[in-house]
Amino acid sequence: MNLVTLGTIALDTIETPFGKAENVLGGSATYFSLAARFFSDCGVISVIGRDFPGEYIEFLKSKKIDLSGLEEVDGKTFRWEGYYEYDMNQAHTLKTELNVLETFSPKIPEKYKNCEFLFLANTDPEIQLKVLNEIKPKYSLCDTMNFWIIHKKKDVEKIFKKVNAVVINEGEARQFCETPNLIKAGRDLLKLGVEKVIIKKGEHGALFFSKDTFFSAPAYPLETIVDPTGAGDSFAGGTVGHLAKHKVFDDSSIKKSIVCGSIVASYVVEDFSANRIKKLNPEDIVNRYKKFREIVAFDHNL
Ligand code: AMP
Repeated sequence: MNLVTLGTIALDTIETPFGKAENVLGGSATYFSLAARFFSDCGVISVIGRDFPGEYIEFLKSKKIDLSGLEEVDGKTFRWEGYYEYDMNQAHTLKTELNVLETFSPKIPEKYKNCEFLFLANTDPEIQLKVLNEIKPKYSLCDTMNFWIIHKKKDVEKIFKKVNAVVINEGEARQFCETPNLIKAGRDLLKLGVEKVIIKKGEHGALFFSKDTFFSAPAYPLETIVDPTGAGDSFAGGTVGHLAKHKVFDDSSIKKSIVCGSIVASYVVEDFSANRIKKLNPEDIVNRYKKFREIVAFDHNL
């Protein structure tokens, strides 16, 4: 397998100023894989309960996502409930129900072992560590969020020290590094021993740090934002999917992949849940990639 992700497959209830969606398909692994599949095959390690609608499984399968690492067990599926106000960069969590995630101990399919790229999407850092140790990928990247930094910061730090790259939201970067300054946060994460750090800034783009490179990419400017849920995970899916497609991990490739990630995420937020990404086709990505270049290009000479 070229690319594998570990993360949540969830039922989300979300309210934004533009509407409400209840018990809809969500989760970090869902958005990651739906974005990554435009560039690479993608296997998912996750868990769902008996209440998970079969139509969502059929939908993921129809998008050629490999679900051999998905387990269905007795109990209820992981659920997240949140809302956004007009500052769509800030998700407000109302409820996180871990449910089947609480006792999840992934059984990793043989074909996922030694994969080229492993993305540890947002989930319990103890499970992230277990999966990383068992899979032994060529390149590993991971995300986390406030919930895990609050409850299991030591484990979050352990996993950060073991992966090649951290891909994290600005709020979480500030919280983890205990600084308001994102440049300082990026450098502090490098000091932990992480080779590459990507800080996601929602509608303000992304920052990339490595030993030799600092790069700042804007986000694709959008007129329609309905629901930002999944933007971070689909950004990661587009970015890592693109790296996996070309089997590269150097700084200049990462810059280009970050732009691909931003483009895919820019579509996801145009509707609730997976409603927009399910209609997306590769030409849409190419078109926005061209427009993105026009928007950010300026003359070399002062
Ligand atoms: P984002 O891409 O950051 O907007 O992430 C959105 C997804 O994260 C939602 O679909 C949620 O189901 C999922 N999520 C929310 N809280 C957690 C958590 N504590 N661990 C893992 N996934 C979560």
